[in-house]
Amino acid sequence: MSDEQTSSNAQPSAAGKSNLDTAFFGHPKGLSTLFFTEMWERMSYYGMRAMLVLFMTASLQEQGLAFTVVSAAAIYGLYTGAVYFLGLPGGWLSDRLFGGQKTVWYGGIIIMCGHIILAIPHPSSFFIGLIFVATGTGLLKPNISALVGQLYSSEDERRDSGYAIYYMGINIGSVIGYMVCGYFMENVGWHWAFGAAAVGMAIGLVQYRMTQSNIAGINDAPANPLSAKGKSITWTLIAAFIAGVTLTVIGAYQGWFVINPVALAGSVAVVFTITFFVYFGYIYFMGELNDAEKKRMWALFLVCVASACFWSGFEQAGSSLNLFARDYTDRLIGTFEIPTAWFQSANAFFIIILSPFFAALWINLAKRMITPSYSVKCAVGLIIMATGFLVMFFAAQYAADGLKVAPYWLITTYFLHTVGELCLSPVALSAVSRLSPARYVGQMMGVFVLTYSIGNIISGLLAGSFDPENVQEIPGLYMQIALFSIGVGIVLVLFNFKAKYWEREGRKDEGTDHEATLSEQPAEQKV
Ligand code: GLN
Repeated sequence: MSDEQTSSNAQPSAAGKSNLDTAFFGHPKGLSTLFFTEMWERMSYYGMRAMLVLFMTASLQEQGLAFTVVSAAAIYGLYTGAVYFLGLPGGWLSDRLFGGQKTVWYGGIIIMCGHIILAIPHPSSFFIGLIFVATGTGLLKPNISALVGQLYSSEDERRDSGYAIYYMGINIGSVIGYMVCGYFMENVGWHWAFGAAAVGMAIGLVQYRMTQSNIAGINDAPANPLSAKGKSITWTLIAAFIAGVTLTVIGAYQGWFVINPVALAGSVAVVFTITFFVYFGYIYFMGELNDAEKKRMWALFLVCVASACFWSGFEQAGSSLNLFARDYTDRLIGTFEIPTAWFQSANAFFIIILSPFFAALWINLAKRMITPSYSVKCAVGLIIMATGFLVMFFAAQYAADGLKVAPYWLITTYFLHTVGELCLSPVALSAVSRLSPARYVGQMMGVFVLTYSIGNIISGLLAGSFDPENVQEIPGLYMQIALFSIGVGIVLVLFNFKAKYWEREGRKDEGTDHEATLSEQPAEQKV
């Protein structure tokens, strides 16, 4: 990792231009390109993800794969973990080889191919399709999130609000995915539903290509390009990756070896957490960062901790909260029984309703000069999410007494979880884009996205202690999650003063930072 600075980093010029551009709800026009691309990508991702476990566990007569629930859950965990883990090489390739715009484009194409492969009704298509989708998402997801931030100058107070709008696109996409893929799955067949996800990604790609001029000049070349030798090594590694994956797939299908997904899933949590620390530490110590950049990295570290804790609790939505809806919630309204799955859409519904409010909130707070540090905003999100679990603590006590609770308990929890999510998730993306050293922004987004993996896996481990046979223990589990999250939240609030200082150090440095990037000054001169 060298500190080569090049003029190919287009952030500064693009950012400067962005101040005048208010074409998309008061934001730069480029936001619409990224908004819709990510919306369609998320449509395909969540649409497909929603039916993954159902498809794996459906019997052969139902054209499913007839896996056991345990294996299906482990494969699901590994897949969702891998998707975000691959954001690390995805971010690296953007910074060093392709630049953000091309990486997003290649990623989208690979995702689309993955869904097309899943749509082929052949016994071998399943894992190959998943590998494509995971690889493509690793390329696309961190880099499109980084591109959003690059629409704004470092002083532009619209950045948080821009991310709130972008986040709304993510969730509109997921709702479309659930509806469209859900419809095809139930009424036509699994493979048509996978095909629908492919069509969604294709629409996203066409849209991206047709409106790419809106993001002209923004991260269209690697920020820190490799030397010719580095390039050839990288291409050799890419070829080795493709060969390795191909051999593994062939080997597994031919029965040369057996992969035990359950055992594998257990160790992956540890590997991901170690990788997070190693990669973060590598950039911090070996990335030739100047003092201000190092301070910003500390501020970012707090945001990453908040994010990993947040998703560990939040992701109970698909597991323990889902089971709570099924087993301990009185879902009867008159003669109509609310389907368990409907509770899952509460989050997306609240996001779409609340996002515009949050987008305005950050702008209004900034206008009043109220700018809490990023980690405090995240801490507030974490604590609000935790209060959702306090609600569940009381609900679970009724369940432990053998009663079924009214649906509004869960709805209140989902509401609080969504408010927490909007305080934390878009804000954290914004923080990564602003606090990362410009030449590492793709990789830092990759490191950040790794906190999604860690959160998801820890959440799975926590949900493992949700034992329907032992309902007495459920209130304790929820209380534990609430107290832990509140504890971390309080620690982060206590760090506010320090975090503000770290972030401000970054800001002080930025005026020169951009000029330095343009004039290729060495990092040391920027402090
Ligand atoms: N819903 C958000 C997204 O898709 C966050 C995902 C996550 O699991 N953290 O970007």
